[in-house]
Amino acid sequence: MISIRDHRKIGKELDLFCFSDLVGPGLPLFTPRGTIIKEELQKAVEKICKSYGFQKVFNPHLANIKLYEISGHAQKFSDEIFHVTSEKGHDFVLKPVLCPHHTQLFASKMRSYRDLPIRYMESEKQYRAELPGSVSGLSRVYAISIEDGHSFCRVDQVKEEVIRIVNIIRDFYSSLGLWDSKWVSLSVRDYSAPEKYIGDPKDWDICEDMLKEISDELSLDAKRCEGEAALYGPKLDFMFKDALGREVQIPTVQLDFATPKRFELFYTDSNGNKVSPVMVHRAILGSYERFMMLLIENYAGAFPLWLSPVQVNIVPVNIKNHLDYCVKLREIMMGEEIRAEIDDSSKQMNYKIRQSNMMKNPYTVIIGDRERDDNKVSYRLFGSTETVTMRALDFINKVKREIKEKIVKIER
Ligand SMILES: [Zn+2]
Repeated sequence: MISIRDHRKIGKELDLFCFSDLVGPGLPLFTPRGTIIKEELQKAVEKICKSYGFQKVFNPHLANIKLYEISGHAQKFSDEIFHVTSEKGHDFVLKPVLCPHHTQLFASKMRSYRDLPIRYMESEKQYRAELPGSVSGLSRVYAISIEDGHSFCRVDQVKEEVIRIVNIIRDFYSSLGLWDSKWVSLSVRDYSAPEKYIGDPKDWDICEDMLKEISDELSLDAKRCEGEAALYGPKLDFMFKDALGREVQIPTVQLDFATPKRFELFYTDSNGNKVSPVMVHRAILGSYERFMMLLIENYAGAFPLWLSPVQVNIVPVNIKNHLDYCVKLREIMMGEEIRAEIDDSSKQMNYKIRQSNMMKNPYTVIIGDRERDDNKVSYRLFGSTETVTMRALDFINKVKREIKEKIVKIER
């Protein structure tokens, strides 16, 4: 039985994404409404990351397989890599991860110790050849839109860099009302199986201690989870509880001494020596597809105002008498970057209000004679049957503020 929160069901009802047999399974198409949500998420995460010093980059989807042989992904994901060839002799792979491209941006010029940290971020596709029968909805797809980023820094900068990234995660998840439900894993080595990891055990010791210090300083109260580290280094993983009580792990900060060495990346220190930087991998929201699936199910489609495809739905009581005022209101709202729509269909008002609720629009504004004559609006919040009347400009300012401040639970 499909749950009422199933993202495939809600995605269809709210017209967020679809599939086409011609395009193929595992390849979701996002509608204009679904794309608004993706873009709002991307804008929000990029705005926060930029304020912490990340710079945006973008890279091709194809690469020479050698890139991934050096990074180790070609071996690790050998059965998940798509190979792309042509009759003209091309032989590429579709990138299974974004990290190696970023190493090549770092390697593109001489770096001094004064240039670090260098921080790149990118929201782009990566590709995994999943088993054909295993792709489903947005949870597992072939072309994954990843929000990814890497910092290249000196050993003495690692601690500050990790703190910076934890602050990004805190800022972003607070805007979704999820930060308070988190718990953090300090994912370390399995000490009984050192052969499973690459890199110098001394580096591992330093990094594991450093992550513990950070957890204490930021009161993260991270649980030590042995055997959960990545191949190349320890990490902090953040777990959230969603509205269904499910624990989902999304953001992560991972320390990596090995990849820069594999790619022979270096900077020149103050004595003129060549030194390998430390690479810090971080994911804030990970895959947009999976993240949207989680949000759709978490909110059961009733997104916070700042993410809603339509923020204000305007319902004229009578088209003939009230449409002009509705159009004027919508123009002012759109000028203020509020996503507003008018239901100018010939249906009855009560039907339109019900319809607006079904589409889970945060605000439904009802316009009759009184509102038009007094420059007012009457509105209902999603999930409430109470109607509130106020001056139109006050309402617009209120909505603007709630969007700007990314208020998750709007005032009732
Ligand atoms: Zn990475």
